[in-house]
Amino acid sequence: MIKTDIIIIGAGPVGLFTVFEAGLLKLKCHLIDSLPQAGGQCSEIYPKKPIYDIPGFPSILAGELIDNLMEQAAPFKPGFTLGEAAVSIDKNEEGQFIVTTSKGTQHEAPIVMIAGGLGVFEPRKPPIEGLDNYEDKGVEYIIKDPEIYKGKRCVISGGGDSALDWAIYLVEKNIAKEVSLVHRRSSFRGHLDSVQKVMDLADDGRINLITEAEVVGIGGEGKVENVVIQHDSQGEIIKETDHFIPLFGLKPSLGPIADWGFEIDKNAIVVDTLDYSTNIPGIYAIGDVNTYTNKLKLILCGFHEGTLAVQSAFARIHPDKKNVLKYTTVNGVTGF
Ligand SMILES: Cc1cc2nc3c(=O)[nH]c(=O)nc-3n(C[C@H](O)[C@H](O)[C@H](O)COP(=O)(O)OP(=O)(O)OC[C@H]3O[C@@H](n4cnc5c(N)ncnc54)[C@H](O)[C@@H]3O)c2cc1C
Repeated sequence: MIKTDIIIIGAGPVGLFTVFEAGLLKLKCHLIDSLPQAGGQCSEIYPKKPIYDIPGFPSILAGELIDNLMEQAAPFKPGFTLGEAAVSIDKNEEGQFIVTTSKGTQHEAPIVMIAGGLGVFEPRKPPIEGLDNYEDKGVEYIIKDPEIYKGKRCVISGGGDSALDWAIYLVEKNIAKEVSLVHRRSSFRGHLDSVQKVMDLADDGRINLITEAEVVGIGGEGKVENVVIQHDSQGEIIKETDHFIPLFGLKPSLGPIADWGFEIDKNAIVVDTLDYSTNIPGIYAIGDVNTYTNKLKLILCGFHEGTLAVQSAFARIHPDKKNVLKYTTVNGVTGF
């Protein structure tokens, strides 16, 4: 049994920063994440993308932000249970929460913070026969490391920001040898400036733009060697490629969290904005996983929520102690 002051379910940016804020109050945290690494969406979906709205950082790569948050949390020695999903929360006779994971690891604490983001997320896969057989053999639904496309031929399909941004990135950074972008319609759903950039790159012959078309088949011996594209007017086209990257977004699902008795609205946990507490006393929900009037799913907002939630958690754990706000500039950061 792993014992701590606060169990944080979800080691995304919000869970990680909450470790720091809890540490300043001398509360110890243990994080659980179903992914094998910390960082949530930043590490899993867009580690190499720059973020522009983190205060004090005009631009920072999502992966770098996570490295910094890990460094900031380090003095408070957080524990990690990674690669295991939290599947149940119970209360023992002493009123402590027991969180059990998919591998049976048990954690005990008086407070639980749910920082589960979008929950467990799955990519939306196009209905192409045999596609599963090529996963990680040339088929990727999420671009984690663009360098794997160095000197390769890539077919990207999709009409949203992800498809547009990655097509632009792989071309402008001179990473891929050849980029084809296949989309069902002639218009795109992404930002206007990204659409314009793709059009310009297509005019310059740097992106092979194939619209009103769909990838309907895939072939190759043990790895992707070609895709079959069904074009509305030109019929079937066989395109030789090293990678097929369908970017149709992710299907968010709260997963086990939805069954823990929380008040849920539109796939998110309803919280009291006073302290981001849920309808279960002692359990808080912070970051993308919660909802309230005017909620914004931004990292910055999650940091604020975690900061206020730990203040409330401190009062629950130490009802007789008064907590006085101390600036880090005055007190410094004294770890455990
Ligand atoms: C492409 C893209 C670009 C973005 N750009 C920006 C931007 O520029 N600025 C900005 O502020 N925001 C941006 N965002 C949104 C931002 O990434 C999220 O607001 C942020 O990641 C939320 O952090 P979080 O810690 O709440 O959740 P997440 O990052 O989603 O992390 C939640 C973690 O909880 C884990 N988890 C869920 N359920 C369980 C369970 N039952 N057991 C164990 N683990 C569980 C998940 O595996 C995940 O690792 C962007 C998002 C995307 C997809």
